[in-house]
Amino acid sequence: MDRECTNESLSPLVHGDAGGNDDPFFDVVTVSDMNLFRRREQIRPELATALAQLEQLAESQPALRSAARLQGAIMRVIYRDLPASGALDLAPERAAEKLRVGTPLLRDEPVPLDLPAIEALMLQLCGIAREHGDAAEAARAIDAALRRRTLDAGRLAGQVLLGQASAIRERAAELGVDGELLCALLRFSLFPALATAAAQLAPLLTAARWEQGYCPICGSWPLLAEQRGLEQVRFLRCGLCAAEWATDRLRCLFCGSRDHEDLGYLHVEGDDQKRAVTCERCRGYIKVLASLAPIPPLDLVVHDLATIHLDLVAIERGYTAPI
Ligand SMILES: [Zn+2]
Ligand SMILES: [Zn+2]
Repeated sequence: MDRECTNESLSPLVHGDAGGNDDPFFDVVTVSDMNLFRRREQIRPELATALAQLEQLAESQPALRSAARLQGAIMRVIYRDLPASGALDLAPERAAEKLRVGTPLLRDEPVPLDLPAIEALMLQLCGIAREHGDAAEAARAIDAALRRRTLDAGRLAGQVLLGQASAIRERAAELGVDGELLCALLRFSLFPALATAAAQLAPLLTAARWEQGYCPICGSWPLLAEQRGLEQVRFLRCGLCAAEWATDRLRCLFCGSRDHEDLGYLHVEGDDQKRAVTCERCRGYIKVLASLAPIPPLDLVVHDLATIHLDLVAIERGYTAPI
């Protein structure tokens, strides 16, 4: 598989911000989100679990405190009023054909997204980022562009579904706004709707074998992998729609190399359960975490953040995560 021909991922906002600003959350989210805490909101159990894990991470790793609390604020917002998502109508035969030729199921399908709700989410997330030191200026510029309609949420969402992260970054560059932040805001704003779509389409994934490293539902590169259960089957997990798909652990998911001399891994001494699996041929890497059961969709970003040290080690050695 040629890595150049496939899709690009939108990288998570938290990656850019794990450097050690340890502003407490309640200082960070002072204005726009305090209403969240005043009114006793009903928190979905899976959100409560993810937030508790983020809080634990913030307590145990001071360097990640700011990022963990920012992530918590983002998750509260994206799961406060879930954008409605309609049913997807995809016949099993069409799904099987797409899978056979390596086309993600959502590609070129009319995906029923509530675009006004997604735009509203993006603006709310801009509000949170505006309160967060480093990203404040960049968030203000994106907020202004969305309100002026020089950035169009519907068009951006369409480009995400077409795997055109580079077009999004180019548009951002034309407007002089931060492309990485824009991609991160989009990714978070689309996550609930795409995770719902992925759950709806998951039964169709058995229609044919999927051999690709990118997501069979949305086409994004995986955020991480799980080595699951006693059988140690490796599953890739999408950070954009939370889909999971099995993969061959003796093969590089990016370039397809099966040469054992190409495939290696990095880990921190004393913690062999979390690895960055690397490939010498394409210099790609992916984090692989041991798990007993599938990681719930909302916990994916928590695990990603908790293992950021592996990203740093891999990047330092010249490996790259898919972009
Ligand atoms: Zn996906
Ligand atoms: Zn490779």
